[in-house]
Amino acid sequence: MTSKPNAISKAHPYRRASALNTQQVTAGRLVGDTCDRDWIWDREVETETHEPAFARAASAWEKQFRHLMDRSPFYAHKFREAGIGQNHLPLKEIANLPFTTKAELKEAIDEDPPFGSNLCVAPEQVKRIYQTSGTTGAPSVLALTRADMDMWTVIGARTYFATGIHDHSSVLTTFGAGPFVAGHTHFVLSRIGSRSVPVAPGDTDRVIFGLKAGLADTLLSTPSFAQYLANRLEKSEPNPKSMALSHIVTGGEPGGGVPAIRDHIQTVLGVTVTEVMGIGDIAPSLFGECPQQQGMHFCGGGHVWVELVDPDSREPMTIEGGALGELVYTHLTREAMPVVRFLGGDIVRIEGSPCACGRATFRMRVVGRLDDMFIVRGVNVYPTAILAVVGEFRPRVTGRARVIRKGPEVSILPPVPIEVEVPAAHGSDAALAAEIENAVHTRLTFRCKVELIPEATFGESGYKTKLTVTRL
Ligand SMILES: [Zn+2]
Repeated sequence: MTSKPNAISKAHPYRRASALNTQQVTAGRLVGDTCDRDWIWDREVETETHEPAFARAASAWEKQFRHLMDRSPFYAHKFREAGIGQNHLPLKEIANLPFTTKAELKEAIDEDPPFGSNLCVAPEQVKRIYQTSGTTGAPSVLALTRADMDMWTVIGARTYFATGIHDHSSVLTTFGAGPFVAGHTHFVLSRIGSRSVPVAPGDTDRVIFGLKAGLADTLLSTPSFAQYLANRLEKSEPNPKSMALSHIVTGGEPGGGVPAIRDHIQTVLGVTVTEVMGIGDIAPSLFGECPQQQGMHFCGGGHVWVELVDPDSREPMTIEGGALGELVYTHLTREAMPVVRFLGGDIVRIEGSPCACGRATFRMRVVGRLDDMFIVRGVNVYPTAILAVVGEFRPRVTGRARVIRKGPEVSILPPVPIEVEVPAAHGSDAALAAEIENAVHTRLTFRCKVELIPEATFGESGYKTKLTVTRL
């Protein structure tokens, strides 16, 4: 066994499923997929139990820790300040290391631009650079060596393969080639060997042309866009289910796992919806949901170490069914810009194990972003919970909604202002607003004030939907 990413990447065999337990033959496959491949990309890593998975991670971490101490001025300084000497720190003691925040990584870049004091290789070894969206301040960069790119591709291949994308799939992707890390998906599809039909983000007409022409059986998009597409085709097409499209993989924001959103897309388009998730600073695709549709499997085994912590106290929690916490990530094999105990800001619920697909890796569903969370009378609320309630009022609503905040305070006094997008005909439906307010009160136990916003004026159609907006 080796922790070298390029060694693991060559392990892909396309084993025949006939060699596997016949009862499992359909468990990891999409409905209608009659191919005979193994549906697990990296069976050794993805099905191993905790003990060998930990041993694999621990040996990779040994090298990664030395790399950080030797090559990262940022971490050498940070660890020294935390009282960690040059000595080896084993993986089982990783909770003794300090967390890393997005703001610190940004400071490290500002300190020594363009790559920052956490660049651990010579600049000539940087072979690919992505930029972050810079939603809070100026964009920053993510530098990758050749091995880093391969590591992202290996994890991405496990992730997308887990959703049911195989070499026989034909995938229309709405993710651009860059500047954002989602562009790396193109390398992943190429590694899996599927057919790729790239369309620029925002080019809805070309997506619809491609789908109606039968160019693709799989679509990669944000849940906002998939929802928009379902709404639009429901109105414009006599039978949207007749298209060759059978699978939509959502990513880039939560939503694909919200039942009201997922069910609507599946019903209108006659597809299976699975979701994926990644974190730019760690790996752009790191979690993939299998056709069992019971949450996203962790796919970074051997390359990324994940911890779960309490979002308030940041105390370690056990990754077990039912646990609700914030995910913390540590690279095990990253060369250029490795991070340690990175606070990802995603609050997730761990799903019970094991999965019928045979993967032993833990599964989770995103509950919300810590940034989006607010508190009403002492109760934590994530806007995705509001989407789940609002979505049930389709077709009188489109499925999009957002919470309006009056300032930076985390606590909001009821009634909580919520804007709900509706088709033009329901723009002044007072009864609808009252029904949604009642449903939110019954289900989420707080009072809200709903304002209905017609589609034409809701704004930011297409790619992503901001779940909370601050208006002073
Ligand atoms: Zn599974």
